[in-house]
Amino acid sequence: MSDLSGKAIIVTGASRGIGAATALELAQSGASVILAARSEQDIKHNAQQIRNHGGQAEAVTCDVSKYKDVEALISHCESTFGRLDGLVNNAGVIEPIGHIATSDPNAWNHATTINFNGVYHGIRAALPIMMAQQHGTIITVGSGAAHSALEGWSHYCASKAAAHMLTLCAHKEAASFGVDVVSLSPGTVATEMQILIKASGINPVSQLETSDHLEAEWPAKAITWLCSGGATDYSGQEVSLRDADIRQKIGLAIN
Ligand code: NAP
Repeated sequence: MSDLSGKAIIVTGASRGIGAATALELAQSGASVILAARSEQDIKHNAQQIRNHGGQAEAVTCDVSKYKDVEALISHCESTFGRLDGLVNNAGVIEPIGHIATSDPNAWNHATTINFNGVYHGIRAALPIMMAQQHGTIITVGSGAAHSALEGWSHYCASKAAAHMLTLCAHKEAASFGVDVVSLSPGTVATEMQILIKASGINPVSQLETSDHLEAEWPAKAITWLCSGGATDYSGQEVSLRDADIRQKIGLAIN
């Protein structure tokens, strides 16, 4: 069991899915958690649930596509908990699924701004603090789509590939300051995102059944393990939940 007592960790995209499960798992391991997303009621509810079970949690409304929101989020963590030990760049969107030739440029740009610039905003705001204190963990929730082209997902594949490279670049600049920067590729996970993917019917991922997907608790446990020191051996790399060795290290079933 990971022990994150005394640590303060921010999770973006914590209103549902992987982010909500991660906030809960981190809090159960003793971390003080800040849940961030656009849906204020949902993050407030999730934070209250954590507090009801004896954990420490705060909700901060934040649109990661806006740098001022992310800056305020990081400041809130420092002023509330007096520290910043971890940042989980989890917020992401799959819509609008569709072909490039018929895509709406505004919607395409908005999705890539969330998936890519949102990660940049988090790293940009967190790094000066973590580098000054000579420790910290930044985890970006990546995707196999960063490395594999898929029909109808040009915005998603391109922005996840860019976020992956940004994560590797951040490692180059932060490693000597004791800051670990890693990417986690979770495989397919049973969340609202997969419901949208299935409804699109566009590519092979949409043909998967709900039973083919992992529960959100799996990436949540992986992220908690990474925040507990697991990231140090993998800084500058992508950790994949499809990797049996990684699953074993985290204590998840291998098959
Ligand atoms: P989800 O259930 O749809 O949750 C997405 C989260 O991102 C929500 O909390 C949403 O909250 C938040 N979000 C979206 N836009 C945001 C913005 N502009 N600012 C702040 N928060 C925002 O999806 P999920 O499956 O948990 O996805 C979490 C991450 O895992 C994403 O980065 C996704 O790409 C990645 N991933 C998922 C899978 C999968 O199979 N599910 C596979 C590989 C990678 P609000 O709408 O309230 O803002």
